Amino acid sequence: MELRFGEKEEKLRLEVRSFLLENNGRGGEASGAELGSRSDDEFEFAKGFNQKLAQRGWIAPAWPKEYGGLGASIYEQMVFNEEFGYWGAPDTGTRGFGVGMIGPTLIIHGNEEQKKNYLPKITSGEHIWCQGYSEPGAGSDLASLQTRATRDGDDFIINGQKIWTSGGHRSNQMFCLVRTDPEAPKHRGISFLLIDDIKNTPGLTVRPLINMANRHHFNEVFFEDVRVPARNLIGEENRGWYVGMTLLDFERSGIGTTASQKRTLEELARDLREGSKDRREQYRTRLADHVVSNNVGRFLRLPHRLHPGQRHGAELRSLRGQDLPVGTRPENLQLRSQHARLERTDDAGRAACSDAWCSP
Ligand SMILES: Cc1cc2nc3c(=O)[nH]c(=O)nc-3n(C[C@H](O)[C@H](O)[C@H](O)COP(=O)(O)OP(=O)(O)OC[C@H]3O[C@@H](n4cnc5c(N)ncnc54)[C@H](O)[C@@H]3O)c2cc1C
Repeated sequence: MELRFGEKEEKLRLEVRSFLLENNGRGGEASGAELGSRSDDEFEFAKGFNQKLAQRGWIAPAWPKEYGGLGASIYEQMVFNEEFGYWGAPDTGTRGFGVGMIGPTLIIHGNEEQKKNYLPKITSGEHIWCQGYSEPGAGSDLASLQTRATRDGDDFIINGQKIWTSGGHRSNQMFCLVRTDPEAPKHRGISFLLIDDIKNTPGLTVRPLINMANRHHFNEVFFEDVRVPARNLIGEENRGWYVGMTLLDFERSGIGTTASQKRTLEELARDLREGSKDRREQYRTRLADHVVSNNVGRFLRLPHRLHPGQRHGAELRSLRGQDLPVGTRPENLQLRSQHARLERTDDAGRAACSDAWCSP
């Protein structure tokens, strides 16, 4: 089995890397900052960075040219994702929520008008999206959501509350799940709506939720008679659960994660090398386990981070056939790599603070 990228992709990798080293503003240091918790200056810097990407068609290289992409191959897109992840390329929410979630969801479920309207504003960096899914009473059990949207002529009127809205205070667009039929079984009365220009939408209020580290990453979003045009409905009314799950599928995958974890693991290894012998011995084997599992995660994910426009059945089937053990289901891989990710985060946290005040 050939696990290396081709010559063309490796050449592109060097081009992307040298662009990032020159333009990510940190001289090659990974960013580490969370979306939304950056200072105003850092956020403005990320916007400028995305503008430079946009000029090259690099915000969503694998998207079709008509939507501002380059029509790049899946492997070229993976090179971009890996390099962006490893070098901590700054983002505003345009690439994460825009390219990574709502864009591909629109390509699958949106109508032509919606695609023409929204996709180019993602690839130009103009639209910065946030996600309105969770509510105070609807987290893991998302289908219990209560934010209500009622039809009024050509509009929906929304009332209710969202919570944990990452970067909501930096965004100008929101995609959200709302209840449109309270009588239906809970998964069947939900619709998927886009809200434009959230900073200037009457009745919509974004309030900060400051976390334990005193960072402003999350927000609560309140809706009081917020009017949204019915043309912003994605897919059919009351069938939004399935649109929302498509989006979560994109959210859960992501080859960039293994690249940024690789960086974290390298930094952790460097810290351990410089730290005490005891600490080194305590964590060496576990760290090696994580390096192996991260590499496995990378290879297992490769065939799945496909842009939907490239999900041509034959290509996808042949990729799966070549790269995955027979009978492996993508969902299991995602779960496995998420699990490995959680474990790594836990270990990284423990290792980082064990010498100081945490007990390992
Ligand atoms: C970094 C981060 C960013 C996020 N960004 C966003 C965002 O932008 N937009 C958004 O909408 N949401 C966002 N979320 C919210 C996230 O999706 C919620 O944390 C999630 O919906 C879980 O909801 P909850 O916190 O209310 O936990 P709960 O659902 O209350 O769960 C709490 C605990 O109970 C357990 N539990 C729940 N139900 C069961 C059960 N039936 N059986 C056994 N155990 C159970 C869970 O496993 C968990 O340990 C974000 C979360 C994080 C951590």
